[in-house]
Amino acid sequence: MLLIPTGRRGGSERFHASSPSELTVLPLGHAALAYLLYTSHVLSQTRRRPQYLALVPLAIGSQFPDLIDKPLAYLGVLTYGRSLAHSVFTFVFVSGAVWWGATTLRTRWPDTSWQGRLRGLTPVAFASGYLSHLLGDLYGPAAAGSANVRFVLYPVYVIPRAAGDDIAPWIRLIKIYREMGTHPQLELILLALVVFVGLHRWED
Ligand SMILES: [Zn+2]
Repeated sequence: MLLIPTGRRGGSERFHASSPSELTVLPLGHAALAYLLYTSHVLSQTRRRPQYLALVPLAIGSQFPDLIDKPLAYLGVLTYGRSLAHSVFTFVFVSGAVWWGATTLRTRWPDTSWQGRLRGLTPVAFASGYLSHLLGDLYGPAAAGSANVRFVLYPVYVIPRAAGDDIAPWIRLIKIYREMGTHPQLELILLALVVFVGLHRWED
């Protein structure tokens, strides 16, 4: 997996940041990792490619922790951009809530309608995307031997504020995606695209 170095605290490249030796996964990298892990799971269980509808909750789950924590850290509500929604406790709670919601709605639509199929696919796809995000974020600090891996135990452990959290998440993303040719995790994203196209053609 190709990852990029995070920025220096207070330095000109500080928009990724927590420690100079850590690596970080960006949104498209999270999406690609989620797709590959979920596809492996579905293929091993059913010998069929994932249903396209499942990719919606999968994509949402794969971005969910950052959609919550990055803006809240920027606004000063959270101390660190990987805390509340990056916690395994929140993962269990939110995934359980999604599962409960999907179960509650089981009689609302016929199972053969797109809404019924989406309802049935959502709990596992969302939780898979969410879990893959946590795994992707753990990779950098774990590879660097950093104590920042403890972000998954928030609020038992609270990681101190990082310089990157002072930069608006949307500014950070604009800076990153301005240069798509050098996008980190490009190999992972291309692999996910190849698998997606390959499975599509294989089943047709
Ligand atoms: Zn994250």
